[in-house]
Amino acid sequence: MLPRPVMQQIQEEFLNYRDMGVSVIEISHRSKEFDAVINRCDELIREISSLPENFKILYTHGGARMQFSAVPMNLLPLKAAHKAVYSETGNFSKQANVEAARYGEIIIASSGEDTNYDRLPPLTRDMVPDDASYAYITSNNTIYGTQYKSYPDLGDIPLVVDATSDIFSRPVDYSKLGLVFASLQKNLGPAGMGLVLIREDLIGHAMKLTPSLLDYAVYESSHSLSNTTNTFAIYTTCLVMEWMKDQGGVDALALANAEKAKTLYQVIDNSGFYQGIACIEDRSLMNVTFTLTDDDLSQQFLTEALANGLYALKGHRAVGGIRASIYNAMPLEGCQALAAFMQEFERQNG
Ligand SMILES: *Cc1c(COP(=O)(O)O)cnc(C)c1O
Repeated sequence: MLPRPVMQQIQEEFLNYRDMGVSVIEISHRSKEFDAVINRCDELIREISSLPENFKILYTHGGARMQFSAVPMNLLPLKAAHKAVYSETGNFSKQANVEAARYGEIIIASSGEDTNYDRLPPLTRDMVPDDASYAYITSNNTIYGTQYKSYPDLGDIPLVVDATSDIFSRPVDYSKLGLVFASLQKNLGPAGMGLVLIREDLIGHAMKLTPSLLDYAVYESSHSLSNTTNTFAIYTTCLVMEWMKDQGGVDALALANAEKAKTLYQVIDNSGFYQGIACIEDRSLMNVTFTLTDDDLSQQFLTEALANGLYALKGHRAVGGIRASIYNAMPLEGCQALAAFMQEFERQNG
């Protein structure tokens, strides 16, 4: 979901951006008008995230999965061993470590595979060899519905976080992290691009074979404009950041997100009918996952939910059941409507 007011503004100014007589997707990425957009976007990201001074903001091509390659290509050379540690907490972290293994030695320090990723295995400093260039986690596991409440503290080892499905949904102390990335489409804007927040000393170490458009140093030195970028995606992200600011920033969003998730988890916890998929300590405020007694009943749930205006609730095939994705833009009323539907469905079928 994108916030409704953002889409309305896009619609209103789409044919005539700031009285220029052209659309925002027609202006040059090198125009002063677009420069104002990207500068404002930087400023809002810094403000919303309380990003430390020594972090750079990069707008990268190719969404999150492109970062599965960019991260190892840029960071493995930080140390001679070309080694990194990954925590495997679901399909996206698995794809990330498989991709990284093309470029160096990848150690899976902990994995949740044995329990089908229903919990987050611990990752502590003693599990990371001293010659590792970085350690890698997935902040929120979109498919399984698990989320780190706080990130592991690995001291001197830079922590890389795929925060695609929970970026800017709560306050984060970036000074403890090395690099955070997210594709835009879950909490920030349209699909196809990514946002990278990176500590500046981690820039400039890319392997020689790294394509320029994956090299963080190229993004940094060109303000992410070394080639024609997706101006529409950055413009939309800028509007979403303005919306976040209007909502009161990440502190207010975190409170709202906790309230939204509670509305759904309460129904699950008070019922013998719905079974939560993720274990309680690790469950996510962004993706609420649960099962019903059998697949037929899940199908009936989905069909009736759709008839009640509740969309996109089918769980990922890796876990089955139901998944409610309640990112920043989902209003509390959406969760309340689903909770009411769940209670009524249980009353009729439980
Ligand atoms: C959705 C998602 C991805 C994949 O994003 P793409 O933009 O499709 O590459 C990666 N990681 C996480 C945690 C996700 O939720």
